[in-house]
Amino acid sequence: MDTTVIIGNGVAGTNAAATLRKNGYEGAIKLIGEEVALPYQRPPLSKAWLRGSDRPQPTPIRPLSFFQDNNIELMRARKIVKIDRTKRRIRFSDGKTTKFDTLILATGAAPRRLDVQGADLKGIHYLRHLGDSAGLRQALAGADCNDVVIIGAGVIGLEVASAAVEQGKTVTVIESAARAMARVASPATTNFVTQSLTDAGVKFLFNKKIEGFGAAGHRICAVNLGDGTEVKADLVLAGIGATPNVALAEAAGLECDNGICVDQDMRTSDPKIFAIGDCARGDNIYAPGKLRIETVHNAISQAQIAAAAICNKERPAPVPPRFWSDLKGMKVQALGIAAGYDLVRSDATQDPSALEVHLKCGDRLVATETVNLPSRQSTLAKAISPAALIDA
Ligand code: NAP
Repeated sequence: MDTTVIIGNGVAGTNAAATLRKNGYEGAIKLIGEEVALPYQRPPLSKAWLRGSDRPQPTPIRPLSFFQDNNIELMRARKIVKIDRTKRRIRFSDGKTTKFDTLILATGAAPRRLDVQGADLKGIHYLRHLGDSAGLRQALAGADCNDVVIIGAGVIGLEVASAAVEQGKTVTVIESAARAMARVASPATTNFVTQSLTDAGVKFLFNKKIEGFGAAGHRICAVNLGDGTEVKADLVLAGIGATPNVALAEAAGLECDNGICVDQDMRTSDPKIFAIGDCARGDNIYAPGKLRIETVHNAISQAQIAAAAICNKERPAPVPPRFWSDLKGMKVQALGIAAGYDLVRSDATQDPSALEVHLKCGDRLVATETVNLPSRQSTLAKAISPAALIDA
């Protein structure tokens, strides 16, 4: 019997398994992940998980019964150390092996780490997994946690800043770039968001370089900036980006370049090996150039594309990439990819807490961003045009 092995049981890997079965795939499916927990949704970890008084429970992507009912072998707490492309098998850390006919790499990304003096002090947190979120939540709730410093004004940084300021903490966000969320959103939206968070009490320091950390014993007590400023800190959260987990693919000789290189069907340089989600880099018809997109929506879309290719089905019709963020009373939603635009039209609405931004390249609507306008999403999604078809 044909066997598909999926490495990584996050949203990309789990959806690939589910979509293979939905498409009628009759072979064996092995879904392998390093964590003990049932595959779970990551978005709440930087949002709801950090708030509220009840002990949070992970939200499963699918209940356990789904894997049993669909004959998907869920292998948890298992680490894979090698892909043997010649023998078509993978090796686990305990030395055991399993064979594959088709392999899907959904290995995700890992938080970029600070590399300055004092970076190993207690009180410096990163956020990716359940355990990270539980540790951060507990630390935030500590009676001695008053001054919270966030390094990086990306999506993780701003979501944690929102949760911390809601809990009455003194929050400072330190960013190396000139503005927040520069990787994913236009200045019009990030200025709006930054102003709202500033009004809520968050202090932003832009264009700042972290020089190191001050310590009280083994614990962090300050963040030292390149300009000599010292920012008091009881807790630090570093959200300074993510790097794709490509070590297994690289060691197996697959083509990698800031991600595992894939074609339009998510095939790697080995036609029987696919890569999807945060670890995969390839073309996207909504923006020029090779892209690695780190969103839930992209993980699900690419899982569907790979599953269709494996089942010899037609590639799903493209839909604009999207992401959302919940920031201190603001639902921020983005459609398309905020790149390659030359015009930004920002519409104030009658509601001062809402915003709609259109990013255009000539006449083409490249992307949209909204704050507190969820009802606009389906209309806006239809208005966004792919870049590749227009340019062709
Ligand atoms: P991010 O969105 O890439 O933002 C990281 C920010 O930190 C960037 O602005 C970066 O600037 C800055 N930075 C890098 N090094 C720095 C330094 N030494 N000092 C100060 N600032 C520094 O990454 P993230 O917020 O860490 O998120 C990580 C991953 O989680 C991403 O995949 C993200 O999409 C995902 N996530 C998504 C959501 C959502 O969609 N709502 C929520 C949470 C997490 P440069 O770009 O100039 O390096």
